[in-house]
Amino acid sequence: MPDVFADLVGQAEAVAELRRAAGAAAAVLAAGAVDRAPALVAVGPSSEAAPEAAPEAGDTEPGVLDPSSGMTHAWIFTGPPGSGRSVAARAFAAALQCAYGTGCGECPGCHTTMGGTNADVRMVVPEGLSIGVGEMRALVLRAASTPSGGRWQVVVIEDADRLTEAAGNALLKAIEEPPPRTVFLLCAPSTHPDDISVTIRSRCRVVPLRQPPATAVAEVLVRRDGIAPDVAQWAASAAQGHVGRARRLARDPEARKRREAVLAVPRRLTGVGAAFDAASALIEAAEAEAEASVAEADTAERAALETALGAGGTGRGAAGAIRGAAGQLKELEKRQKSRATRAQRDALDRALVDLAGFYRDALTMALRAPVDPVHTDTAALAGAGAQKWDAEGSLRRLEAVLACRAAIEANVKPRIAVEAMMLALWKG
Ligand SMILES: [Zn+2]
Repeated sequence: MPDVFADLVGQAEAVAELRRAAGAAAAVLAAGAVDRAPALVAVGPSSEAAPEAAPEAGDTEPGVLDPSSGMTHAWIFTGPPGSGRSVAARAFAAALQCAYGTGCGECPGCHTTMGGTNADVRMVVPEGLSIGVGEMRALVLRAASTPSGGRWQVVVIEDADRLTEAAGNALLKAIEEPPPRTVFLLCAPSTHPDDISVTIRSRCRVVPLRQPPATAVAEVLVRRDGIAPDVAQWAASAAQGHVGRARRLARDPEARKRREAVLAVPRRLTGVGAAFDAASALIEAAEAEAEASVAEADTAERAALETALGAGGTGRGAAGAIRGAAGQLKELEKRQKSRATRAQRDALDRALVDLAGFYRDALTMALRAPVDPVHTDTAALAGAGAQKWDAEGSLRRLEAVLACRAAIEANVKPRIAVEAMMLALWKG
């Protein structure tokens, strides 16, 4: 297994910072200081300035770290989708559990963390639209326990922007007074107050990730996934820096077909009726894609729960068990419905990003900007659009797509937002 940071594409600065922090964290453990809390100085509210110099070992405040050494209890990884926020968080978690260095990739700590089996690393991946307060309280409670591996309790919260307000408050309490060996790693698109509360943000150190350049993404697809260089280059460009999406486009013919259907939208918009048809097609395609992506997990979960509940039992107590089972099945269905909704929105959002790329190409061509097109395979079509619409018309269309994304994010019904967008794209 290579170094744990190997898959973090095009993020040299962030990796250097995380390695420094992991080294500092290891030094704390080596000094045995953390057992006499507080181990680390939490980042203070509304200030990132370093407190006074750390006292020497054996002082009245043993183990207080100089924060300039690079380790703190709470971190936020920010960056556009696909930039590798959760990849960075997981790699950092591994580096914290690494027995020999700062993420060697070889030791049991690295291996178990990267494989998702380390008992002291919890990855919270919200399946629904939000992370609730119950889930967060349970998590905070477990995170306070002593790490069984003798190093750190690490909690990774992917999509921390989906925390409910109550869940955010529960998390804030834990971050304000962190247990000595607990580290929280949050992932969010940005530190905008819409994504993460100001109070949580003020307690965290921020690690900004950038959109990796297409060449770096292509290089990883070739090296790690064995994809042919020309396919890798095309996929990396079409995915606009989204590593996971690029891999899917390179490998999955269904994903390519869906993308082609989306990119066929601009030339189909020949009238009002066609605009509504295009809206329906886009929504239905997103629904179908989402259904396919969750169907397998749904069936497996239901079967597992039914087995656990002993479905079909006839012995004494079976009636009571069935009543309890009904409640649990209902709970499961609720969770699955929420996950399906999320999957639908994600699928639709991917389609809108592709579409935005097309109009962005038209705009840059109209402006004769010296940049490569996002979608090389529809470049000719975008060029024709650029001639017909000019820069202004291209920009209006690009803005219509972005407005649709924003509206859906703000909970406008997807069909309504997409219909409005298609009409705007047709009218220009
Ligand atoms: Zn290691």
